[in-house]
Amino acid sequence: MGNVFVIAEQKDGHVKRVSLEILSELTRQGVAATAVVPGFGDLSKVTDNLVNHGAAKVVVLEHEALNQYNTEAYTNALHQYLSSQNPSVIVTGATSHGKDFLPRLAAKFTTGIAVDCTSFQLSGDKVSVRRPVYAGKCSKQVEFSGAPAIFSVRPNVLAVQTGSKSGSVEKVAANPGTVKAKIVSTVASQIKKVELTEADIIISGGRSLKSADNFKILTDCAATVGAAVGASRAAVDAGYAPHDMQVGQTGKTVSPKLYIACGISGAIQHLAGMRTSKVIVAINKDPEAPIFQKADYGIVGDLFEVVPLLTEELKKLKSQS
Ligand SMILES: Cc1cc2nc3c(=O)[nH]c(=O)nc-3n(C[C@H](O)[C@H](O)[C@H](O)COP(=O)(O)OP(=O)(O)OC[C@H]3O[C@@H](n4cnc5c(N)ncnc54)[C@H](O)[C@@H]3O)c2cc1C
Repeated sequence: MGNVFVIAEQKDGHVKRVSLEILSELTRQGVAATAVVPGFGDLSKVTDNLVNHGAAKVVVLEHEALNQYNTEAYTNALHQYLSSQNPSVIVTGATSHGKDFLPRLAAKFTTGIAVDCTSFQLSGDKVSVRRPVYAGKCSKQVEFSGAPAIFSVRPNVLAVQTGSKSGSVEKVAANPGTVKAKIVSTVASQIKKVELTEADIIISGGRSLKSADNFKILTDCAATVGAAVGASRAAVDAGYAPHDMQVGQTGKTVSPKLYIACGISGAIQHLAGMRTSKVIVAINKDPEAPIFQKADYGIVGDLFEVVPLLTEELKKLKSQS
């Protein structure tokens, strides 16, 4: 295999777990990879973490314009650096940022792209990936012809493991090129939340929650087990939850160990975002709700009764452990 690059994502000095998942998988496959981190300032924690998870080399693409994510600056800087490195493979996480810059990068390389892959294999000169299609109803195996092979990997589908810890770190002055869009301000979410795409447990609510205040039932339950809270689009459209909580085709794609759907019917567009969860539990008062066809465990009942009972039981378990 030629030169393999993992574009690592970081925010405020913390590296996204999916970057470590990709590096761990490459290590398992015996592939030496370079992690490329666009950013500015002290990124030593990020580079240490990448080295500890198997990066043979870490390149910090440094420029003030890369301090915060910016579509044009990231794409330009990455293309300018990578095009000088004869890349065979360029891979990143299928996160909001990855979904934004990777197709643009592929366009600059005038090559194809496979997005949101759930597995990949690099062997000899062959790169093959598996990716869901038709809202997750099927998956297909894709092989690349030509280089670079560019693909993104769904967060939370690969295991993280520490690597050889012997990689080197290099800083390269980045060239973000002409940037027409400027970030004027960033508004952080007021609630400290567990990031949906990285959560091991997600408790989601639908239209049936009936108000934003009622989502407290879910946040209380989630707090007992350190879970993230998600929502269906109907709940988001009704103003009960912000869009960054939306799971589904037009929201986030998640693959937690446990997904608890509360009062969610199980429309195909919702399933598209959570069907690769390892265990799915559905709470719905309609025994015919489509979500039960996908659920591993189902509770037919009123979520306003079932969820508080679940919270109490989880609290008891926690106090015993
Ligand atoms: C292009 C497109 C993209 C879309 N993208 C998304 C997406 O990203 N994510 C998404 O979620 N949807 C998406 N949708 C919308 C999707 O089709 C559904 O309309 C939506 O998922 C329904 O949300 P819901 O299950 O909360 O609401 P409903 O379909 O109204 O279902 C509510 C469910 O709650 C149950 N219920 C009611 N009261 C209670 C109670 N007290 N206790 C227990 N159960 C109760 C009902 O039996 C029902 O099954 C998209 C649609 C389109 C056309």
